[in-house]
Amino acid sequence: LETQLRESQKLEAVGRLAGGIAHDFNNLLTVIRGNAELVAMNPDELPPPDLIEDIRGAADRATGLVRQLLAFSRRQPARPVVLDLNEAVSDMAGILRRLLGERVSVTTLLCPQSVRARIDRGQFEQVVMNLAVNAKDAMPTGGALTISTAARPPDGDSMRSARVTVSDTGVGIPDDVREKIFEPFFTTKAMGKGTGLGLATVYGIVQQAGGRVTVESAVGVGTTFRVDLPWCADAAQPSSMMLTPHPVPRPAGG
Ligand code: ADP
Repeated sequence: LETQLRESQKLEAVGRLAGGIAHDFNNLLTVIRGNAELVAMNPDELPPPDLIEDIRGAADRATGLVRQLLAFSRRQPARPVVLDLNEAVSDMAGILRRLLGERVSVTTLLCPQSVRARIDRGQFEQVVMNLAVNAKDAMPTGGALTISTAARPPDGDSMRSARVTVSDTGVGIPDDVREKIFEPFFTTKAMGKGTGLGLATVYGIVQQAGGRVTVESAVGVGTTFRVDLPWCADAAQPSSMMLTPHPVPRPAGG
């Protein structure tokens, strides 16, 4: 059942991606087709230059979409390992400080207990990196980025999890925008600045690892992304201890 679930989640991520591309492509084709029809309606006139520019622009954007999609699909296959999230996050701190620049303070708060999850190292780094880049964009005049790890106990119907939280003091996300942020190619950034693939990638990686990502945001205050990955027991504790092959003998006289 678990593999079935994971497969269907993978399919869902792929489906969302395909849906996003189809939508954007359709819009571009509508522009190209509409302008071609305008040209066809006036066979004796030279088409106005801005009409041709529109066609060219739409074709260029379509090319860009395909390029991004190819880069996205050519990702290395995932090689999940038991990853110590405290270690992975502190290894990234230096790069993140350089990336975010002088105006943003970067703080890591590591759980005193070890926090492990089974995930591809490169993919985990990509998740944190994408969230950090978005945080930077959300704080153009500076602010604070906090990355923390935590061991989350089971809660209601959610299982024990290894949590990484990426929090910023940026512009925040309005409610109507928040519904769309994980969709492929959804961006509020200027042309050429955002691809709209950052959070779709985060979503896809986290789904594939069997986890989930949630967001909480307040406009003008900041945004917090929480990534919950399935908890990985301490490596020192062999899993055979939990999978006893024979029934444990009952004490005599019981
Ligand atoms: P991109 O960064 O290329 O726009 P993403 O998928 O990474 O694509 O993000 C989609 C959108 O979600 C962004 O354009 C932005 O509007 C919003 N967003 C993501 N992270 C944040 C954040 N930390 N603060 C404010 N808005 C954010």
